[in-house]
Amino acid sequence: MTCTSVTVKEKCSVRRLRYLLLLVMWVSCPSVAAAPSELNSLRQAVAEARQQGEMDSADQLAQQYLSAAIAQADQKELGNVYYQLGRNAMERNNYPQAREYLEQAVSQYKSAAATLSLANALRQLGQTFRYQSDYQKALEYLYQAMQLYQQLNDPSAIASGYNSIGTTLEKMGQYEQALQAHQQSLTLHYQTGNKSGIASAIFNLGDLHRVLGDTSQALSYFQQALELDKANGNLRDIAYSHNKLGYLYSESGDYQQAADHLQQALSLFEQISAPRDADWARTNQAKLAMHQGNFPQAVTLITGVISRATVHNYNSLLVDAYKLATELAITMSEYDTALTYIDAGVNLARQNLERADEAQLWQMRVNVLLQQDRPREALAALMQQNKLEDDIFNNKRVSAIASIQAQTEFIRQQQQIDRLQQQQILQQALLEQHRWSRNFWILGLAAAFILLLSLYRRLIQKRLNQRLSQQVAARTAELHQKNNELSLAYQQLETISLTDKLTGLHNRRFLEDHIESDLEHCRRMQQDWQAGKTARPKGADLVVFMIDLDNFKALNDTYGHSIGDLILKQLKHRMQQVFRQTDYLVRWGGEEFVAVARFIEREDASQLAGRFVESVHSAPFEVDKQHSLNVSCSVGYACYPFPEGATTRPWPALLRLADLCLYAAKYSGRNGWVGVQHYQSALPLDAADVDATQLQRAIADGDIEICHSFTDTLNWLPPV
Ligand code: GH3
Ligand code: MG
Ligand code: MG
Repeated sequence: MTCTSVTVKEKCSVRRLRYLLLLVMWVSCPSVAAAPSELNSLRQAVAEARQQGEMDSADQLAQQYLSAAIAQADQKELGNVYYQLGRNAMERNNYPQAREYLEQAVSQYKSAAATLSLANALRQLGQTFRYQSDYQKALEYLYQAMQLYQQLNDPSAIASGYNSIGTTLEKMGQYEQALQAHQQSLTLHYQTGNKSGIASAIFNLGDLHRVLGDTSQALSYFQQALELDKANGNLRDIAYSHNKLGYLYSESGDYQQAADHLQQALSLFEQISAPRDADWARTNQAKLAMHQGNFPQAVTLITGVISRATVHNYNSLLVDAYKLATELAITMSEYDTALTYIDAGVNLARQNLERADEAQLWQMRVNVLLQQDRPREALAALMQQNKLEDDIFNNKRVSAIASIQAQTEFIRQQQQIDRLQQQQILQQALLEQHRWSRNFWILGLAAAFILLLSLYRRLIQKRLNQRLSQQVAARTAELHQKNNELSLAYQQLETISLTDKLTGLHNRRFLEDHIESDLEHCRRMQQDWQAGKTARPKGADLVVFMIDLDNFKALNDTYGHSIGDLILKQLKHRMQQVFRQTDYLVRWGGEEFVAVARFIEREDASQLAGRFVESVHSAPFEVDKQHSLNVSCSVGYACYPFPEGATTRPWPALLRLADLCLYAAKYSGRNGWVGVQHYQSALPLDAADVDATQLQRAIADGDIEICHSFTDTLNWLPPV
């Protein structure tokens, strides 16, 4: 190991020295026109520096190359310079800039009529669009390049064209066509004996099978690619294959194989000084460590990747790293950390226009927010995720149509070339006919041929249309399923949002959803009894208890909000000890709680209130192992049913009465209870609108009977 690293260092320093030398030459004599061989070696130096990940050197050398080419005033050479600048910008994931350079390259190549270079520049332009998920545009450029390759009749270039088209179609989810493109590429590479081409086509086929979830097939392709890469001796390609194999073994649970391959990938990437790719391998190692439950190692690896990728702007890698870091934080239940990574990832994915990644990050945000019991925010995140997925889906659909149009155009042009050749044959035949007077037959044959050709075209068009409608049907089914999933998710959120986050008790909304039917039930039982239909019902009353902690603000001020929260959580248990399981226990808001006792006799209400006040006061609340606090509460309650005609709004009336009683308990010294027990049959007021003074008068007049725990007279109004 030590030996290798020394060699690598030496290699690096020799290379740096070379870059430096080239730069010094440039600075010292920039205006002298360079010889063609010098331009050549500058171009190679730019490409080499880029391949080694030395992007600053690559850019500096490219500027030097630019000055030299301008001095030469050679359009093709200028095209080459812009091409290199474009490739450098692509390497830095700066696609808008890459596009500007590549467009300049295209225009220079067009003027210089350099067809092959023009096609290559168009292909790279297509790639920039693919990296930013604009597959429609990508295909447009790729097919333009393909037409030129076709004209040049250059099988090796056509094979690389198929390669790029295949990877784009794969991203669009058009797997069948992607497979065809990769197979075409493989066949052509075989025909031309291009070994590295064969290896890369096999690598792409492996990747396609990986995306399709056929792991064993993918593994065998990658193994084959690795063997071929080893035979070819290109270290970068060998490292890529090791990296993919490592990833796949890790996903399929073969951790030993995974670790071996990833280690080899990493050593090779380090050896060829490809820092971004090395961090890509480390990202896979982090994932492996996570699968193995080795969280500290996973965290160390991924945070290292994130910090380096941030410094060097490895944007795509960085999004992947944020995704993994989030997954890791979620696995470790560190939800706040997860949210921080998600925010960073979303911003970057949005900046990179990587919508699929952004959608995945939103999905993770939904999960985290649900874990944190933040249903409303989760719902908002879910809607954002859904919107993005819809966009992607629509975009894919439009691109699918565009892809078929582009292919049709490509086939049409191929046919035009064929037809031109046919016309040439026809002309020759006509000449011959002059000689041999067989005009009629040859024309007839040609007409039949053209007829057959157009029939063939229609057949192809029909097949393409059929495939398109199948795809549209499949996507529609997908959309349907997504909608179903979404409504399921809404339902889940609905349930969660009926629960209070801090205590896990029901919330006010839950009670409002349920109380009316309970009140209706009580009222009907009473009516049936009063109408003589049934005997006097037993246990058919309902009592609403309003509970408020005493001097809670002071407790918060003295001990802090988090201690206050602890008390609120523990209050839930005290409630559960006193009230029954069938009663509704609700956090009404802040430090106020409501308990609705159902199926009880109203005569038992005062005993229940007393027991609850006592249960809070008698035992201190534990705030940590050493400390506990004395807490008390006050309770107001009201019983149901009301006499006939007491109110048209029974639920607000119950709350009103219980609240007035709670205030009376507070004004009378706290740590006690007050409750409305009975009502005379004709109440002189609507209980829902009653105020303290009216209530006091109704009590004095004997219209309302109350109970309480205080020894002195009650205060219904604040003491002055
Ligand atoms: P009283 O005996 O009159 O009810 O006095 P109080 O201080 O309890 O009444 P007030 O309504 O003035 O204050 C209620 C306090 O409850 C205010 C706020 O600090 C605290 N509070 C409300 N919601 C929460 C919460 O979710 N957590 C914590 N820790 N405190 C809360
Ligand atoms: Mg309060
Ligand atoms: Mg209070």
